[in-house]
Amino acid sequence: MNKFPRKRNVDGDSSKSARGSSQKKGLQHDGFEHRARKRFGQNFLHDQNIIQRIINAIHPQPADHMVEIGPGQGALTRKLLANCGKLDAVELDRDLAAYLQQTLGEDPRFEQHPGDVLKFDFSTLSDNPRSLRVVGNLPYNISTPCMFHLLNYSHLIQDMTFMLQLEVVNRLAALPGDEDFGRLGLMMQYYCEVEHLFDVPPGAFTPQPKVCSAIVRLTPHRELPVQVLDVRCLQDVVRVAFTQRRKTLKNSLRTLISEAELNKLSIDLSLRPENLSLADYARISDSITRIASSGSKALEQKESYVE
Ligand code: SAM
Repeated sequence: MNKFPRKRNVDGDSSKSARGSSQKKGLQHDGFEHRARKRFGQNFLHDQNIIQRIINAIHPQPADHMVEIGPGQGALTRKLLANCGKLDAVELDRDLAAYLQQTLGEDPRFEQHPGDVLKFDFSTLSDNPRSLRVVGNLPYNISTPCMFHLLNYSHLIQDMTFMLQLEVVNRLAALPGDEDFGRLGLMMQYYCEVEHLFDVPPGAFTPQPKVCSAIVRLTPHRELPVQVLDVRCLQDVVRVAFTQRRKTLKNSLRTLISEAELNKLSIDLSLRPENLSLADYARISDSITRIASSGSKALEQKESYVE
């Protein structure tokens, strides 16, 4: 007997996403029929070979505490649960969360946290360092904010394996000199090792997205290979440098640091932003931080003198 009534498409949403497609098929599992919701970035994996390749890449172990973002109809969830010790799932779509609860809820190792991953506090799951293994075929419309949200908990995370748009994976893994090298790659590589594992064609999903996808593994560094005095300053430097991508550094960073100070760092100022390494940006950032802190010390001294 069907546990779930046939459902009409209740989603009149017409928003566009990179995975958007004219076809908006229903998917059926155990009599449960669900129409993909574009606004939730829903493209469900159906290709069993790809699903198995992802599981092999993750290689879940009985001691692993997995966290899945957007389990959907459980394409990855079931296979993860078959091999790991515990699985927490964060799903925004209440219909899908209810379906998963009915089908997997009896397993005490499975726990759902219905809601928005961007508001989810991952520290409620564990306080053991490097204990969480995060996975997800991420909704593309929130993939970048989702990854940056997770970086707030990087000390708790062993690794993260994500399905993303191929273009985003190329940017994450890009190296200095690559066309795709920019803010996203620099900031992610500050915190994590980035590995582009393999590509996934649109035909692996229902409905099919318009773009290719890829699997990436992000492993938070045990020790940061490059460390800055103030990471917000690094973010500012990188943002300003890449906002004016065509300008040389001398011109683009003018608002943050003088040419004389830049010259002290022995960095070729005629280079464009994509030609500098993370270590170069860190040196620029630290120089700005030191100048700012010596400026505020000078100001403090002056103020106390006035007193
Ligand atoms: N894991 C499933 C699969 O591979 O077939 C579904 C992947 S689908 C691309 C993205 C999933 O993320 C959907 O189940 C969607 O409802 C869910 N989702 C979308 N936005 C979310 C959010 N802000 N927080 C949590 N889950 C979200």
